[in-house]
Amino acid sequence: MFLKGKSAIVTGSTSGIGLAIAKALAAEGASVMINGFGDAGAIEAERAALEAASGAKALYDGADMSKPDAIYAMVDRCHAELGGPDIIVNNAGIQHVSAIEDFPVEKWDAVIAINLSSAWHMMRAAVPHMKAAKWGRIINTASAHSLVASPNKSAYVAAKHGVAGLTKTIALETATHGVTVNCISPGYVWTPLVENQIPDTMKARGLTREQVMNDVLLAAQPTKKFVLPEQVAALAVFLCREEASAITGANYSMDGGWTAA
Ligand code: NAD
Repeated sequence: MFLKGKSAIVTGSTSGIGLAIAKALAAEGASVMINGFGDAGAIEAERAALEAASGAKALYDGADMSKPDAIYAMVDRCHAELGGPDIIVNNAGIQHVSAIEDFPVEKWDAVIAINLSSAWHMMRAAVPHMKAAKWGRIINTASAHSLVASPNKSAYVAAKHGVAGLTKTIALETATHGVTVNCISPGYVWTPLVENQIPDTMKARGLTREQVMNDVLLAAQPTKKFVLPEQVAALAVFLCREEASAITGANYSMDGGWTAA
């Protein structure tokens, strides 16, 4: 319970990696604000479970991460109702798979807005609170695609490389203020984001579903295993510890050896 008294916003936490991070932060006592889309009843059940786990208030905010005004309003709400924010996890993300000549412009705009620009706005809104508190932890969910490319993912690869550069820049701007800024770069994690890209990958590469699973997704990782959301969450919690206060501007690969290969 080393995060008792701290507040955290985890964007894109109604599912997958973000939900695992929200649970792991709540298990350490943090007041968590969750965000993202989904079934209202399921989201309320997750919110109540976070409150029970942390013994602290948990809130849901449905801010659309492609809308800057909604992002600033969410951070203001966290400050007013939970304090802080002391921790932000910029995790909301979407994917679109298509050859560049067929890539819809609105999909490029959406992937860049949700995966990259939202992290910039979140940090812009939260850093003043963290500097005032002389403590803060910013964790950005990047991807193995912050380091290496795959065909047909131009917007996603550009956004994730951007997240890695943004992480380093804001780490330098906050380094003397007790604030650390790091990113985690998972390999493939079995979540709706990965499952939903299978049909487009089949189309773009002319592969069967089985070939996408074995020759694209699992083959990327020398371990031949998906990364688990709970593994990403455990690293996010470690980065919030005092023992991690010298770690800033880092990009942690958690990709079963993908980028080593
Ligand atoms: P997911 O689809 O399970 O979760 C995505 C979350 O983002 C959901 O809560 C969804 O509601 C939310 N979201 C989507 N659009 C949003 C918007 N406009 N505003 C607010 N919330 C929005 O996917 P995931 O795999 O858990 O992805 C989480 C993060 O991890 C993403 O940034 C993704 O790029 C990254 N990532 C995923 C993998 C993987 O293999 N799954 C690998 C590396 C990095």
